[in-house]
Amino acid sequence: MNLRVKANGWANRPGSGMRMFLSTYFKQLFAGDLAAFGGPQTDESLAGHIRAEQICLVLGYSTGIMLANACNAVVLAVALWHSPNWIYALVWAAAVATGALAFGLHAHSARRITKPQFVSRKTMYRLVRNAFVLGTAWGIVPVAFFTNASSGAQLVITCLCAGMLAGGAFAFATIPVAAIAFTMPIFLGTAICLGRNGDFVYLLVAVLVVVYGAVLLRAVFVNAFEFTRRIIAQFHAEQSVRQDPLTHLPNRFAFNETLADALRRLAHSGEEFAVLLLDLDRFKEINDKFGHPAGDEFLVQVAARLQRCTRAAEHVARIGGDEFALIMANLTRAEDALEVAEKFVAAFAEPFLIEGCEVVGAMSVGIVLAPRDGNTSPDLLKHVDIALYRAKKAGPGTICFFEATDDRSARDRKALQRDLELAIERDELFLVYQPFLDVRHNRITGFEALLRWQHPVRGLVPPSVFIPIAEETGLIHQIGEWVIRRACATLSTWPANVRMAVNFSAAQFHNSGILQTVVQALGDSGVSPRRLEIEITESMLISKYGSASSILNALLQLGVTVALDDFGTGFSSLTYLRKLPFSRIKIDQSFIRDMLTQPDCAAIVKSVIGLAQDLRIGVVAEGVETTDQLEYLRQTNCDEVQGYLIGRPISADQIAALLDPRKQRSTHAA
Ligand code: C2E
Ligand code: MG
Ligand code: MG
Repeated sequence: MNLRVKANGWANRPGSGMRMFLSTYFKQLFAGDLAAFGGPQTDESLAGHIRAEQICLVLGYSTGIMLANACNAVVLAVALWHSPNWIYALVWAAAVATGALAFGLHAHSARRITKPQFVSRKTMYRLVRNAFVLGTAWGIVPVAFFTNASSGAQLVITCLCAGMLAGGAFAFATIPVAAIAFTMPIFLGTAICLGRNGDFVYLLVAVLVVVYGAVLLRAVFVNAFEFTRRIIAQFHAEQSVRQDPLTHLPNRFAFNETLADALRRLAHSGEEFAVLLLDLDRFKEINDKFGHPAGDEFLVQVAARLQRCTRAAEHVARIGGDEFALIMANLTRAEDALEVAEKFVAAFAEPFLIEGCEVVGAMSVGIVLAPRDGNTSPDLLKHVDIALYRAKKAGPGTICFFEATDDRSARDRKALQRDLELAIERDELFLVYQPFLDVRHNRITGFEALLRWQHPVRGLVPPSVFIPIAEETGLIHQIGEWVIRRACATLSTWPANVRMAVNFSAAQFHNSGILQTVVQALGDSGVSPRRLEIEITESMLISKYGSASSILNALLQLGVTVALDDFGTGFSSLTYLRKLPFSRIKIDQSFIRDMLTQPDCAAIVKSVIGLAQDLRIGVVAEGVETTDQLEYLRQTNCDEVQGYLIGRPISADQIAALLDPRKQRSTHAA
């Protein structure tokens, strides 16, 4: 039983296999695919791209060719004016001229603003069919009109047929099947016409036509094969130029092209579109924590999730390390862009599995709408960047549309950034120093260097405004280097028992050159490393610990001490208190301000002081403004205090008086 079924199955196969083969073959053949003639096999996306190139070429000169067809038809009608078949000739000429003109006009109006990258098989079938219909119309001419025509008109018909053969072969030089569909009926008509007449001269003409035809078709094939090979090579080369090798998504170059196309369509037909800019919120952290191969794996998974959220014809592009972008063409409602952005954000709800660990990612999205937010590439890119900046500031998973007010603040920031770039060379930066008071011995133990910027127009710009800009733009490296050199130089003029604290930004730890800078600054000023203290904040340790730890450890080995600034404002730093040998904790001023009125603040201050003592590290209370606060801290055994009560930040010149022991005693006597 089983065997019979099997035998039947085999018996059916050759027939159905052959049918399948023939159907595939003819589909390829009429779609202009050279694989039907032994050319290279291509997948459908590449085949569609080749068709697009072939059709674009044909459409490029189709208007001219159709005008020539109409003109030839009219010439033929005039040549056959005195022939007995003149009425038929007139009807034929009118039909061909009208058809050719209509097609030419249609081809002209259908010219696309942007070149299509893919053309379906159906479009190519239509082209081959139309070539056949037109070829047949010309093939009728020698059969129907040659015999009864005058010798002059016969000459015209001969010229026309020869011209049509050559012109057809030229027009379809990249699509052999279309060239055959057009020229074959003309060959056939000519053959019938010449064969009907037994004259020897006509036999010679027939030989010529066959030779010409063979040469023409050979030329068409050679040209078409060469053309296809070139397009395939170009396609692969372009793909590698346009594709991000890691995620296989389009890259920045491809994105810019898509944007330029969208802008062209906007200018031509008013087609609106949206640009979505996406930024991964914790990519650097993942890279630092798990290493670069895991970071790459994360990006690949992110790319796959993002691509699943878009409409079929749209592709998310990877335009930077952890930056992705999408252009939503033909946008009718802004909500559509929001919906896709929400899908992007929701795609991060599930954690990613990286090297067996669950990693939670997040994404922020900025959106601009064209033409509402701009109609040029620089404007749109600038505005979408601004929208993304606001989204990132608002926290992970936020989506922000661009708003006009963003632009003003961004312009202001840009102006400030430009000025900051020049601030060092214009000598607009300077340091002020705020003292630390040892509560037990009533002695100034050191100073914290605080940066100031005297802007020629804006006046004194606070560090809370310009430090974040310096961090984002990378200027912090240059500025930080200046600060450390200046602080060390100043420190060298102070007594040996006074230390200097210098604030460091997280970004500075991403540049290993900082170590060299500290060593040089200490060497140049001849200051002992023990007198230099670096202040870092908790939040920096949490987000950037991976890369910061090695530099921090190297600094500690030099003998430089490290203090934990703004303690209590970040999270989970207790772990880091164990990992790094801090010399000091600085309790954030917000706790000191409220400790006398709010019991919870007092409890925190007391516990931190106790914790520091148990860990045998120093503790400083920041922001002490009243004698009551100082008294309370003295009673809770706080080591040192800093604040306006002890001294506001002052210039190096003013410090000499403060370091005078007699003056200190009279000012801070308890
Ligand atoms: P910080 O390191 O916590 O510095 C303490 C801030 O509190 C200083 O503000 C100081 O002037 C202020 N302050 C001191 N005592 C009192 C007080 O009794 N009451 C009140 N209300 N405030 C007090 P400043 O100078 O505006 O600095 C702000 C922040 O800017 C600093 O916080 C530090 O994080 C950063 N910064 C300053 N200079 C530098 C620098 O050279 N490099 C880096 N990376 N950051 C710096
Ligand atoms: Mg500080
Ligand atoms: Mg602080």
